[in-house]
Amino acid sequence: MAESKKEPRGWRDLPFAALPYKLSLEYKTGSWRAFKPVIDQGKCVKCMTCWVFCPDFAILWDGEKISVNYDYCKGCGICAHECPVKAIEMVPETKKV
Ligand code: SF4
Ligand code: SF4
Repeated sequence: MAESKKEPRGWRDLPFAALPYKLSLEYKTGSWRAFKPVIDQGKCVKCMTCWVFCPDFAILWDGEKISVNYDYCKGCGICAHECPVKAIEMVPETKKV
């Protein structure tokens, strides 16, 4: 008679799997990007909506202007979609800006 499979009862019963063990600061996710957000400073009204919505905390504010930390921006385009004045354009990485 076949032995019935034992259901996991806690985390110690789960099989080993791959887990990231470094700080997220060490994973520069910008290298995944196919499109980059480019901010038109003339249109930007500094509302910080892009900062609120960016899932990677890649929008920077230096007290005067908004910019993008391209080391961590993975090019999802959420900031461009949410910007109320359409000040952010998603540009192919292959295009020089
Ligand atoms: S959402 Fe648009 S207008 Fe608002 S801070 Fe960002 S780039 Fe500027
Ligand atoms: S493209 Fe995505 S990851 Fe990059 S700054 Fe905009 S919201 Fe953040």
